[in-house]
Amino acid sequence: MDVHPPKPDSSGSPVFHARGLSKTYRMGEIDVHALRDVDLDIFEGEFVVLLGPSGSGKSTLLNILGGLDSPTSGEARWRDHNLVGATDAELTRYRREHVGFVFQFYNLIPSLTVLENVALVNEIAEKPLDPLEAITLVGLEERIDHFPSQLSGGEQQRVAVARAIVKSPDVLMCDEPTGALDCETGKVVLAAIARANERLRTTTIIITHNAAIAGMADRVLRLGGGRIVGEERNTHRLSAEEVRW
Ligand code: ADP
Ligand code: MG
Repeated sequence: MDVHPPKPDSSGSPVFHARGLSKTYRMGEIDVHALRDVDLDIFEGEFVVLLGPSGSGKSTLLNILGGLDSPTSGEARWRDHNLVGATDAELTRYRREHVGFVFQFYNLIPSLTVLENVALVNEIAEKPLDPLEAITLVGLEERIDHFPSQLSGGEQQRVAVARAIVKSPDVLMCDEPTGALDCETGKVVLAAIARANERLRTTTIIITHNAAIAGMADRVLRLGGGRIVGEERNTHRLSAEEVRW
């Protein structure tokens, strides 16, 4: 479990490929340009952090790559799946088969235990992890029989991470997973996500305001005004245990 997998190979073909991605919302008389002409390649196994001020287009970009939203113009592909112009049924299938999501609010089922919340997803997956393995990965193996109401917010969010990874998604998308948590608790959740990426090699895209996570990322993309305004690549990526918060 402690072996670090090889670094993502950015010389091969990308798993995500986007060109000229733009999204405009019409609000009465004015156009809101949420994304402007974004070009982006993301490689297999990469851990990519999206940083940027509120309103800079982070969620819009994540939602398009996750098949939750469509751009106004441009191209976006995941492998050979076209994410632009796909039908709702195709996008639903893409999400169900390939993407795990973690959002700010965890939405666990209150009447089910930790193990049952995670196993429920495992039953509909094609190549699932053992639910206990997913729960152990987020450090909650001692809590499997607890109900969500018996857990702290951070623990509930770690269950949500286990639920997202138990179906062995090809991509894990996290939109401000620690937005509702205090900083200390948030770190544990971020470390669990980073560890899942390290161990499972799941391509991971995460939006967070916690800049310390940048040390664990392969790449940090900074958004501003709907554009990618900065990009940093880490040659030495810190493990979840090494990072200084
Ligand atoms: P971020 O996640 O970086 O905070 P968003 O991608 O949510 O940014 O939003 C980018 C811009 O698009 C913002 O100006 C936001 O107000 C606008 N926007 C996002 N969603 C909608 C929507 N459904 N309708 C109108 N405007 C939207
Ligand atoms: Mg957002």
